[in-house]
Amino acid sequence: MKKLVLILVLIAFSLQSSIAQNSPKVYTKGAMKDMGTTYPLEVWLDTLPDKSNLYAMGPYDKMKGEITVFDGKPFFATAFVKDKGVVSQNWDIRSPFFVYSNVKEWEEFNLTGPINSTQEIQEKVAALAKSKGYDLKEPFAFRIAGKFNQITAHIVTPRSPEIEGYKPNVKSQNFYLENNNGELLGFYSEQHQGIFTGSNSFVHIHFLKDDQTFMGHLDEITTGNQSYKLYLPKKQPIVKTAMQVNDTDFSKGRLGNIQNIDLDDLVKFHGHLCDGLVVGHLALQMAMNELYPDGIIDRTNTRIVSKASPCLTDAAIYTTGGRYQFNTFYISNNMDELFRVQRIDTKRAVAVQMKKGLKPMEIDQLGALAAKGELSACDLDILKGMEDDFTELLLSTDPIDNFSLTKITDFKWSPVLKNDYTKTDILNKNKTKCE
Ligand SMILES: [Zn+2]
Ligand SMILES: [Zn+2]
Repeated sequence: MKKLVLILVLIAFSLQSSIAQNSPKVYTKGAMKDMGTTYPLEVWLDTLPDKSNLYAMGPYDKMKGEITVFDGKPFFATAFVKDKGVVSQNWDIRSPFFVYSNVKEWEEFNLTGPINSTQEIQEKVAALAKSKGYDLKEPFAFRIAGKFNQITAHIVTPRSPEIEGYKPNVKSQNFYLENNNGELLGFYSEQHQGIFTGSNSFVHIHFLKDDQTFMGHLDEITTGNQSYKLYLPKKQPIVKTAMQVNDTDFSKGRLGNIQNIDLDDLVKFHGHLCDGLVVGHLALQMAMNELYPDGIIDRTNTRIVSKASPCLTDAAIYTTGGRYQFNTFYISNNMDELFRVQRIDTKRAVAVQMKKGLKPMEIDQLGALAAKGELSACDLDILKGMEDDFTELLLSTDPIDNFSLTKITDFKWSPVLKNDYTKTDILNKNKTKCE
């Protein structure tokens, strides 16, 4: 068994390294190069659809100052009087160009000084991101926290007399800060020069003091040899896991109760996250997209035949609304596919299958041993690790490559009552932990 375990661990590792994931998407509105002399306002922050964990930056209004959104808090700074930066918070502000991203989770790394220019920040961030598997062709946000020896930052000031705070021949106020604790927020992109980075740079960086008494655009920096925390956005699975369903609105109600259901909801219903559940979820997503092209699954209008696995059957009844007792669900192992699904009103039917060879064979081999009670406590953990890796693979690669759909022209509904399938996910429920 030891040798088998070693081979399996190696397979699990090689599987993990092939997983592709994306950073949370970075959005832009307006562009530096399009501001002209009138600075048209391209975004009203209040109208941004999702402000949770928002990180963003841009000029404040018609060059009245700077905006930096830190974790859903909208700071804006003005410097209408020399040497006097004023930081406030409000969503009711506008900007001529804006870059933003919702980052729910960050990955923390160490960054050691010295850092002596914004160019060096750019190089260090790019090098670290690259070494951690980030795609440098895609823009991403970053943060650097710590104590900074010297920082020079500016806050822009209005360019025309009709704007509040205007002073002739003054385009910005510079600030020199020594030994300040705070955080740099930056956006990195190799594709947005003239949009949100300057023509010679891949970064746009703002600084916020920890006590929130100063915020501005970073121009120069000098640090000692101390170390900093560098944060990169945690990479997200590429695959979408939400669906829309239509149900009736009360016990005797009418259709039209439209809700979003997510893989997380299915996990709660099923009891745990497992590879089979994700297989079922993604396969059904594909089938449903075919049957309901408007993207709303009518759970009163769908019937389904499922393979017997406890994960697949739960995905089947939860997603389609099919139930055995209403003759809209039954199980068959006499088919190659995972599911056969029919939309009742149009009679259209599809079958969905997982591509052969996608699931590592070892998962089923070990799974069969586990079902016979022949896996030790520690081998069960290894099997779980392999299943988790497979789950991650499914959630980070395009389902089009992993599942295939076929239309069924002669769909037959032949329900059978059978209730002696083995619920394989509870067979080891009293097994001890791996010591
Ligand atoms: Zn700026
Ligand atoms: Zn399961």
